[in-house]
Amino acid sequence: MLLTISTTATPATDLGFLLHKHPDRVQEFAQSFGTATVLYPEAGEDRCTAALLLDVDPVKLVRTRGRTSPDFSLSQYVNDRPYAASSLLAVAIGDVFRTARAGRCTARPELAAEAMPLEITIPALPCRGGPDLARRLFEPLGWETEAQAVPLDEAFPEWGDSRYVRLRLRGRLRLADALNHLYVLLPVLDDGKHYWIAPDEVDKLIRAGEGWLAPHPERTLITRRYLGRRRALERTAFARLAELGDETEEALEPPIEETPEPTAEETPELTVEETPERPSAEGEAGPPADKAVPLNTRRREEVVRTLQELGTSSVIDLGCGSGQLVGALLAEPRFARVTGVDVSTLALTIAARKLRLERMPDAKRARLTLFQGALTYTDPRFAGYDAAVLMEVIEHVDPPRLAALERVVFGHAAPQHVIVTTPNSEYNVNYEFLTGMRHPDHRFEWTRAEFAAWAARVAAEYHYTVTFKPVGDEDPDKGSPTQMGVFTREH
Ligand code: SAH
Repeated sequence: MLLTISTTATPATDLGFLLHKHPDRVQEFAQSFGTATVLYPEAGEDRCTAALLLDVDPVKLVRTRGRTSPDFSLSQYVNDRPYAASSLLAVAIGDVFRTARAGRCTARPELAAEAMPLEITIPALPCRGGPDLARRLFEPLGWETEAQAVPLDEAFPEWGDSRYVRLRLRGRLRLADALNHLYVLLPVLDDGKHYWIAPDEVDKLIRAGEGWLAPHPERTLITRRYLGRRRALERTAFARLAELGDETEEALEPPIEETPEPTAEETPELTVEETPERPSAEGEAGPPADKAVPLNTRRREEVVRTLQELGTSSVIDLGCGSGQLVGALLAEPRFARVTGVDVSTLALTIAARKLRLERMPDAKRARLTLFQGALTYTDPRFAGYDAAVLMEVIEHVDPPRLAALERVVFGHAAPQHVIVTTPNSEYNVNYEFLTGMRHPDHRFEWTRAEFAAWAARVAAEYHYTVTFKPVGDEDPDKGSPTQMGVFTREH
């Protein structure tokens, strides 16, 4: 199994600092299943290539299959057949490039934070789903992806393709991101060889997927395959991805792929020491019924409920994203006029598709307006509604632009009610492995006191009163994950 990582950054040999592996040395790292070797076939000023070579030792592999082995969880899914090697490659990446994957580099901290020109090749990658799936997984992450099926035997093209793909990725990315993409996606492409048992697989996935998995269009497939289709683990992972700012609705989407029947080829030959899940395991991994509802769903439901309680019948959703709230409002006949606005035309295109605008019955369609607009510029189209909603939007606005948004929404549009939701930063300690903010695009996240102070000032300035509601399960000390302010115009 071979993986090469090249860069043409100058000086290209900086790659050695980033990987924490000296370009002049050949280094070996013992793995429980064999040996990982790192060497540099080229190390010039203009181009530098690091190679990770994995030598799998079938005897070692079998020997590690014990409960006491440090790789106990690994032993659940490995076997001595070469097709499992890409999972092993991911394990080796996780181990050998641990510091680089965390984005740490004391010698060159600024380098680790920067995107650089990278080229990654894997000459033979087991890939269930073929070259097309490899493209679907890597392209949304900014990789120019070349994936070619490797023929079973070049001398006999009529035999067709093997399940291996020759993969070449090119792009400008942070090295840490590149390594995390491989760490998660190699076993996903390999698929079906994992007998994960540990609930901490969810943590590993969330941590390695930070910043890219939640918005990935194939996140359902990735999560499902990575977790070996363990339902309880999947539910936990989806719930956490949703909490981490995924603005789409996993739970309501039909599964992208059905679990295929295992074929003879895929049934491990060796008996796999899979620990059966304890009867209680389901309960542990899958929280009680209401907690299993993702945070974004609960947020939307709370907004709809509040709008109903306020007796509103026309609502403008400012920063509507993919249109989930708009869809929920349209489902309630009492909302006679529903409008979605977003600055992003892509978001509006996705909203139109998700709402099935083309096929929407006329009566419903007549209640709906979608348009592009920026909340920091006065726009007469924002006026004339009973209520405006800013759901998880203010934290996407640069603090110096926030005053403009306040003026536009509370000063000019000035609806009877404004509902604002935003993350409660105090709650973030409950997200294990969350190191920064919940979403890469967030410009700030406020404590309850900060939000209350902002809301009180805005209310006073524009003659509104404001009340607060928690959304999501409340932590006794840290409050709820989402905070909501409900503003009502005076007089
Ligand atoms: N309200 C949706 C989306 C939240 S994500 C939900 O809760 O699911 C934030 C959205 O605000 C994004 O779709 C982004 O495009 C939009 N946005 C950010 N700044 C904006 C601005 N200045 N004007 C209009 N929309 C904006």
